[in-house]
Amino acid sequence: MIGLRGHHLLCLLGYRGMGYSPAFCENMTTVYEQLRTEPETMIRVVLGPDDLCAEFPKDEVAHCENRTVYQRDAEIVAKLGLEVGMELTWSSICGQVALEVKPTDISNLCATCRWEPYGVCAEGVRIVGEGGALPPVPRK
Ligand code: SF4
Repeated sequence: MIGLRGHHLLCLLGYRGMGYSPAFCENMTTVYEQLRTEPETMIRVVLGPDDLCAEFPKDEVAHCENRTVYQRDAEIVAKLGLEVGMELTWSSICGQVALEVKPTDISNLCATCRWEPYGVCAEGVRIVGEGGALPPVPRK
């Protein structure tokens, strides 16, 4: 079981190896690759810091507890038709993405995110919406 907060359900669609530190990326790559290759992995939708936040660099100012980040989580959980505390497979979450999210929604849902301008998350939403496969992310 992997615990993920709301916005990370979408961040994982756009993850292409970029992140806050080598340790953060190593952990995120592990999670991403598990979900990509084992889409029946169970996910628990959690409130606040999750299994990805756990590797946020200790020497950087963390945003994991920021009110705005909780707001983004709540908006994305609602957009996906989910609730905090739900346990469901990653493939079911991707099914909800395909039903409920359009690539253009990312610029609204994630307007202040530093990764949004790269376009990778909108691209991930597009891939999932078309029933395609997310690309592998090689380990560094
Ligand atoms: S734009 Fe930022 S918050 Fe939104 S899905 Fe991408 S990485 Fe996550």
